[in-house]
Amino acid sequence: MDIGVPKEIKDQEYRVGLSPSSVRALCERGHRVSVQTNAGAGAGFEDADYERAGAAIASAADVWDRELVVKVKEPLPEEYDRLQPQQLLFTFLHLAADRGLTAALMASGVTAVAYETVELPSGKLPLLMPMSVIAGRLAVQFGAHFLERAQGGRGVLLGGVPGVAPGQVVVLGGGTVGTEAARIALGLGARVQILDVNIERLSELETLFGSRAELLYSTSAQLEAVLPAADLVVGAVLAPGKRPPTLLTRDRVRLMPPGTAIVDVAVDQGGCVENLRLTSHSHPTYREDDVLHCGVPNLPGAVPRTATQALNNSTLPYVLRLAQHGYEALKLDLALGKGLNVREGRLVHPAVKETFPDL
Ligand code: NAD
Repeated sequence: MDIGVPKEIKDQEYRVGLSPSSVRALCERGHRVSVQTNAGAGAGFEDADYERAGAAIASAADVWDRELVVKVKEPLPEEYDRLQPQQLLFTFLHLAADRGLTAALMASGVTAVAYETVELPSGKLPLLMPMSVIAGRLAVQFGAHFLERAQGGRGVLLGGVPGVAPGQVVVLGGGTVGTEAARIALGLGARVQILDVNIERLSELETLFGSRAELLYSTSAQLEAVLPAADLVVGAVLAPGKRPPTLLTRDRVRLMPPGTAIVDVAVDQGGCVENLRLTSHSHPTYREDDVLHCGVPNLPGAVPRTATQALNNSTLPYVLRLAQHGYEALKLDLALGKGLNVREGRLVHPAVKETFPDL
């Protein structure tokens, strides 16, 4: 199959759909891959790396003119005209949040498969998970930095030193993001509390962390008990298909000591902090109630090289299946089939259809 890899044009997006090693895996199986000039430069992959892997370096028009286009982010309006009937598009789409894009995909006749809705029989989302792992790990790395005096923080070293107590990290939600945040915080030597409403999950976390993390059932009273001693709070809750609960109301944020920090990873779904404002990698925090707030919706964007490789480790098996079987792959692989959002002009994903019943 002929496969195209465009350069991402979204602001601050440096990831790329296929890494050179994925390109090599495809070329070894007889597929032809065209990569747009400089598509991987932001992630540290040069055009020469792609050529060595077997790709042809091509223009934007060329790479979009392929049977299968593999990207990272959703097409932007300036890319809508490039979508073609009988073409397969494999990328993150998040259609429920974007009516214009949904309509554009339908009008183009493209068949669009979204990373975020590829779903294993267990209900796990294998292409979303690597980004959650990265976001969780980064949340603590970012938070530790924000606690430095020069960043406006209270000047606390999370790991402490012999003779001085370590910092206290409170993780709200013990799913993928929360677990990885806790893992890094414990690795730094911080004290960690994880709050969740799912008792079964708390038991799993006990198996994972033993007595190193304090595992607490999440209630209003529990939250208000832990916040006055917190140095860093990581927001990692998810209520599937809904906005996350507003666990950190303004009154509760005021319980935290001055100069402490909140990194709300759940911001991409609306956040669990009342009135949280979106922030960016160039201006990651703002100060409110004397607490630093971070609401960066695309944390993995900070590490595009790691993120591209991690994403590719998960997407490659599906890209190989699409390349080998074309549309048939969506029937042969049920998990991949769940990724189908738009098929030749028709909106087919049940949840997106529910969001836009008139489309
Ligand atoms: P997950 O489903 O694995 O975990 C969410 C956890 O929150 C679950 O264990 C659930 O029981 C718990 N929870 C629900 N309500 C709660 C409450 N009231 N109190 C405490 N815990 C509660 O989800 P995840 O993959 O860890 O993702 C967490 C959030 O991070 C999501 O909103 C996701 O979209 C977001 N995310 C953001 C980025 C980013 O760059 N900002 C990247 C990846 C994921």
